Amino acid sequence: MSSSSDRSAADTDRLNNYRINGDRLWDSLMQMAEIGATEKGGCKRLAASDLDRQGRDLFVKWCEDAGCTVTVDGFGNLFAHRPGLDESLPAICTGSHLDTQPTGGKFDGVFGVLSGVEVLRTLHEHNIQTQAPIEVSVWTNEEGSRFQPAMQGSGVYVGRFDLDEELDKRDVDGKRLGDELEKIGYLGDTPVGGRNMGAFYEAHIEQGPILEDEDKLIGVVRLGQGIRWYDVAITGRESHAGSTPMHLRADALAAAADVVQEVEALALRNTPAAVGTVGFMQVYPNSRNTIPGSVRFSVDLRNPDAQVLAQMDKDFQDFCEGLANTRDVDIQVDPFWYFEPVKFDNSDAVERAAQKLGYSHMDIYAGAGHDACYMADIVPTAMIFTPCKDGISHNEIESTTPEQCEAGCNVLLHAMLGDAKVAQ
Ligand SMILES: [Zn+2]
Repeated sequence: MSSSSDRSAADTDRLNNYRINGDRLWDSLMQMAEIGATEKGGCKRLAASDLDRQGRDLFVKWCEDAGCTVTVDGFGNLFAHRPGLDESLPAICTGSHLDTQPTGGKFDGVFGVLSGVEVLRTLHEHNIQTQAPIEVSVWTNEEGSRFQPAMQGSGVYVGRFDLDEELDKRDVDGKRLGDELEKIGYLGDTPVGGRNMGAFYEAHIEQGPILEDEDKLIGVVRLGQGIRWYDVAITGRESHAGSTPMHLRADALAAAADVVQEVEALALRNTPAAVGTVGFMQVYPNSRNTIPGSVRFSVDLRNPDAQVLAQMDKDFQDFCEGLANTRDVDIQVDPFWYFEPVKFDNSDAVERAAQKLGYSHMDIYAGAGHDACYMADIVPTAMIFTPCKDGISHNEIESTTPEQCEAGCNVLLHAMLGDAKVAQ
């Protein structure tokens, strides 16, 4: 006869030995990638398009086959629900997105959703009963490509955006998001927000080169970095490129060049975490033999530390003010968007799971926005990063390996089981 402590040790062993099926996960990723497959091996499955409907249909079928019920909320977000023994407990949740960029890859977002499906399948086939329910969500329009802004479904869900305002958003052809969701059959009638959630996890490819560079399998995402966006307008004076001496010029583009250099220098002064980019510029009149009279451009500053980012903001604005004086041009800086850094306060669960499974891992921060960044507003949240080849994403050649996907999904399974408590 075994003692109860032997029994609980055996139960813990059994629990620790559960693994997801890596081949099945990979097959599902490849099957989903056929919907909207592009010639170069990527995926184009824009939000609320007919291809989005096909992707959602497949998700719903797979979840129902694994014994779940799927509901659709009033913004088209999907929730696959696997009952717990105690349905009054808050659900342990995971999710991501199925929409892609116009020239997107096979894994961005999809890996997180299908990892959730694979967790459901693993629980189903081993008949594992959890105390808390398990949920897998698909968030509408994470990419912000066909409709803006990005992370729209999760943003509406947590109350960052107004539901009706977002349903009224239109694509370039003037088509309204609410109508498009209705047309594909995914404008549901359950309320947006307010589900009983106890934790939210999102597995995602890193979309950067750090894990590969450090030869680590799992990124424990501690922070989502803060972002500051600016529109800068510099006004000088157009005049003839041949007959205006250098000391009598007010060259808006030469001043803009100083700002571009400063954005790079500012990021380099705050290494390793800071980044700074000027990615868009319009030069007026953009003529070979006229000194540019006005230039408009974007500035993007990012840092995971709110204080450092605030200092970068101040340094940047001071620089522009000083430059306007020395170069005798007018510089208008419009700091129109600030995304506060996000702390993922459930990330220890990811680290524990990676450790238990024997996967190499490191702390990392998220360079891009994710649905989890908004979910962190309302529920303890964590992200699991896995490597992607050469750090390339938002690109049809985006790539990862079955082994990397399998590891990320196993971490997701064990992090979620740790929270949901398996019935012994
Ligand atoms: Zn994504």
